[in-house]
Amino acid sequence: MGVANHRSIAWACVESFRQKHFDVVFTYQDDNISQHKKQAAMDTLIANSNQKQETGGKILEAIPCNVETDLPRLFQDQIPELLDGRTGLLDSIVHSIAYAPFKANSSGNCDSSISEASLQDFQTAHHISTFSLLETTRYAKSMMNSSLENGGQGASITALTYLGANRAVSNYGLMGPAKASLEACVRGLAVELGSFTLPSTASSTASSSSSSSNSQQQHSIRVNAVSAGPLRTLSSRGIPQFTELYQHVEKKAPLQRNVTHQEVADTVRFLATDGTGMTGQVIYVDAGYSSVVPV
Ligand code: NAD
Repeated sequence: MGVANHRSIAWACVESFRQKHFDVVFTYQDDNISQHKKQAAMDTLIANSNQKQETGGKILEAIPCNVETDLPRLFQDQIPELLDGRTGLLDSIVHSIAYAPFKANSSGNCDSSISEASLQDFQTAHHISTFSLLETTRYAKSMMNSSLENGGQGASITALTYLGANRAVSNYGLMGPAKASLEACVRGLAVELGSFTLPSTASSTASSSSSSSNSQQQHSIRVNAVSAGPLRTLSSRGIPQFTELYQHVEKKAPLQRNVTHQEVADTVRFLATDGTGMTGQVIYVDAGYSSVVPV
């Protein structure tokens, strides 16, 4: 969830999952005004990706989705339609969505002071960046391939986060509190969904692709986050002095460089598919920056 263009972390995830032969559905934000343009841009992305990657998983669909309004439609209509009414086919969800309003101050510069934030801006940042993970999970959990029956490993949800969750990062504004809340939600969801029983109707539908009719079977969804170092994307371009931050990490991180989109995406894919013993974790893919006191 959360492809804006070819620089999006979500897009790198699409490519990483495809390489490992997973079929993928991705979402992008529909702003209603330029829907045709957006759809065309997504079609181009898909065409280029198909050209590059003739084997591997397929992109099944690109679905417009504004998480403030469209999540019920996405999970109650569009995804079930794509899966031909069969639940239990969805292995993994990647939540790669964030937004916090930035205001201009009196001199026209970006004002990221959180003491001046309005309640509405605070709510918007938390709704889009954090609550959307909870809502996604609520709708998706009954249709995921989460059954532990027949040796199943369960399903996974992975969110993207940033060091600004637990350190004050200049200019990160309301995204810091929103990411802190996101990481707490990841841990809370990990506990809630590590081992759970679906209500009997949902459970029997979710297991309809398996041989069992036992409506009380155990399910499991692992929930983790990947904390990425700075990457040049549409969102990060909106953060004041992002270039300084990017260059600082290059100098101070143990690996003396920034990470790549692919390194982040491959870790997301690893957590989603291979890290079967891992849940409730925040994994840093940041060239080691979070482990040092930069001097
Ligand atoms: P991006 O701009 O490519 O992706 C952000 C996505 O959020 C966009 O697709 C945008 O359309 C979507 N979005 C915003 N508001 C939305 C709404 N109301 N409904 C639906 N979608 C909405 O930027 P990115 O850097 O790839 O960001 C992806 C994730 O990675 C975010 O959670 C971000 O905080 C996180 N992250 C980014 C960096 C970085 O340096 N780029 C570092 C660490 C974490």
